[in-house]
Amino acid sequence: MPHNRCKFIFVTGGVVSSLGKGITAASIALLLRQRGYTVTMQKLDPYLNIDPGTMSPYQHGEVYVTDDGTEADLDLGHYERFAGVSCNRNSNYTAGKIYSSVLAREREGGYLGSTVQVIPHITDEIKKAVLSQADEGIDIAITEVGGTAGDIEGLPFLEALRELGQDLGRENVLYIHLTLIPWLSASRELKTKPSQQSASILRNIGIIPDILICRTERSLQEEHYNKLSMFCNVPLEAVIEEKDVENSIYEVPVELAEQKLDELILKRLKLPLNNLDLDDWKTMISRIVHPSGPLVKIGVIGKYMGLRDAYKSIFEALTHGGISNDVAMEIKGIESEDLERGTTGVLEGLDGILVPGGFGHRGIEGKLEAVRFAREKNIPFLGICLGMQCAVIETARHLVGLPDANSSEFTPGCSHPVIHLMEEQNAVTDKGGTMRLGLYPCVLLDGSAAQSAYGSGRISERHRHRYELNNEYRERLEEAGLVCSGLSPDGDLVEIVERPDHAWFVACQFHPEFTSTPLKPNPLFRAFIGATREHACE
Ligand code: GLN
Repeated sequence: MPHNRCKFIFVTGGVVSSLGKGITAASIALLLRQRGYTVTMQKLDPYLNIDPGTMSPYQHGEVYVTDDGTEADLDLGHYERFAGVSCNRNSNYTAGKIYSSVLAREREGGYLGSTVQVIPHITDEIKKAVLSQADEGIDIAITEVGGTAGDIEGLPFLEALRELGQDLGRENVLYIHLTLIPWLSASRELKTKPSQQSASILRNIGIIPDILICRTERSLQEEHYNKLSMFCNVPLEAVIEEKDVENSIYEVPVELAEQKLDELILKRLKLPLNNLDLDDWKTMISRIVHPSGPLVKIGVIGKYMGLRDAYKSIFEALTHGGISNDVAMEIKGIESEDLERGTTGVLEGLDGILVPGGFGHRGIEGKLEAVRFAREKNIPFLGICLGMQCAVIETARHLVGLPDANSSEFTPGCSHPVIHLMEEQNAVTDKGGTMRLGLYPCVLLDGSAAQSAYGSGRISERHRHRYELNNEYRERLEEAGLVCSGLSPDGDLVEIVERPDHAWFVACQFHPEFTSTPLKPNPLFRAFIGATREHACE
């Protein structure tokens, strides 16, 4: 059971998905934290995969990784970046994860004699998951439910949240419903009906939202507030507008604070108001909106560039690096397969090239072209995970003289597997949750660019990979100028490579983007954008 002081906020969505529920929930968490409360956050996803780790970016966008190695929904990235909460395995539950523990218990005989049912067994398990966040010291636990009110698969989750309102007492639970007020350009009007219907779906389930947050392109007028209040059964002051922000998603909390959403929440939960301190946050936003430095142009070379969610944390971390270097930034998403057609012209004029993580053979040759271009033209380069593996293959092919060097992920029997499967992965057959995941320590080489970026000799970063630099080639790669500047403490695993003969060329096996926040950019992103700034000023 949670300790008895913890309050719960449940955030549901209506009308359509992709409304920015995660950003809204994270913004609320930031506001409450900046009023002095300790907040924790969680996402419930009603789909049946145990976690998103096995899903394609087309289906799910980026797979976010937490310190403890949980492969999770990308909303957890917003939680950590906005609210500074530290997510873990209790921060993301899917229907699959809930069902698998119930079914495992059934096999163990844990329900002996009972018919195991969605209600109460699945809903009890969901309630347990929600309550698992309320550790000692947590004042407010925020749970966001994925999907949209009315989804069949979401029903047990909403039922569990309804029951928790009863179990915990209504003064300890707040229901927030995020909905869309569409603008019809033909009739030039905002429509409240879909939100009314969505609130009605929730009412059928037994949940009456305490607060309605309305996503909209245009400002709501008095008539809309009145209708929404009346027909969604929400007090007038609890109808909140969340209009599209102009410059940055980091403006959302400020917009919500202007409407006193945080005060409303605290009043409703019977918690003292305390002072709201958003000074640092607002300074950070003004640096995004009015940078005093030059414009830097960054190319990100991936294979899902039409789908920005696939590289969510990368784009955010680049923005963070831009904030700390006070530059304006233009990020160009470049399809790696386009580079395979011999058109490296799109790379001309860039001040920095980033090759992010990825899986599978498609697009690799284009990424290798991008690494080569950055190396030969002395353009700042940051390689991440697969991006580091590409940097190694490129060096092996063009500087060590092994034209058929490759990763055994792409060419299993290749004669020079400069990247190969980690030993611990040899016996692994299951695909889900079996990579090298989460935080691992790394020792940095004295005097290296990596060490200068971090300002420390030992770091810890998050990982998600199966392949590694093949140590048989380490010496030859170093002779070709690729210095192994970050190693696992036992010296066995190469975590960072860099080129001292280059303006700034660093590639890492881990994912620095996951630990970057707007107020505390990851050091590698800060240093990378610093180098691109110098390049832009040349
Ligand atoms: N596919 C590569 C590996 O498994 C890289 C993974 C990644 O970029 N996250 O090692």
